[in-house]
Amino acid sequence: MSLAEIQNRIARAETAAGRAPGSVKLIAVSKVQPDERVEAVLEQGHRIFGENRVQEAAGKWPRFRERYDGIELHLIGPLQTNKARQAMELAQAIHSLDRPKLARTLARLAQETGACPDLFIQVNTGEEEQKAGILPAEADAFVEECRGLDLPVRGLMCIPPVDEEPSLHFALLAKIAARNGLDGLSMGMSGDFERAIAQGATHVRVGSAIFGERETV
Ligand SMILES: *Cc1c(COP(=O)(O)O)cnc(C)c1O
Repeated sequence: MSLAEIQNRIARAETAAGRAPGSVKLIAVSKVQPDERVEAVLEQGHRIFGENRVQEAAGKWPRFRERYDGIELHLIGPLQTNKARQAMELAQAIHSLDRPKLARTLARLAQETGACPDLFIQVNTGEEEQKAGILPAEADAFVEECRGLDLPVRGLMCIPPVDEEPSLHFALLAKIAARNGLDGLSMGMSGDFERAIAQGATHVRVGSAIFGERETV
């Protein structure tokens, strides 16, 4: 697969869903990918990338930023509070706001620095024990809590259970977002981004379909 093919598939899915062209943002998930693959995508003009580890992002993106303008970095993986400051310096968006303690830490740092990346609250739509995220039943209260802390919450994010139809989870996330007046929906990966767009995704996070399979680490 290639970047152009994924962009075409996104455009077709937007049209099929009656959505405006360009209404879905493609986050190219570059975690664990070798630099030359990332560079090939940068050379094609793409500037929006996702990483799931702060450490890895910090080792990679300052270098690319010296050579390419306008890079927008999205942090999509679990965030420890002791890495929050570094994450806020590196990323334009954080998609893994998943607990009150992290919300309080981000709020304190935002006060201190006067800046905060766009935030997405991660919802554990499948209520999976091993998965991060706010439970659906607690999402409304958590959105409220984050707003009370003056955090720039732009939307919600989910990672559906691997063995279930993702569309049901995307629809649930969209419903929770709508009743909380949130526009952003970060949902859909390589295997299901078209279904996510059909359910209203505004941000799709696509890795292997663009870059190829990841080497396991
Ligand atoms: C790795 C990852 C993706 C991309 O997964 P692909 O299946 O390679 O597209 C999307 N979202 C999150 C949170 C990830 O960790």
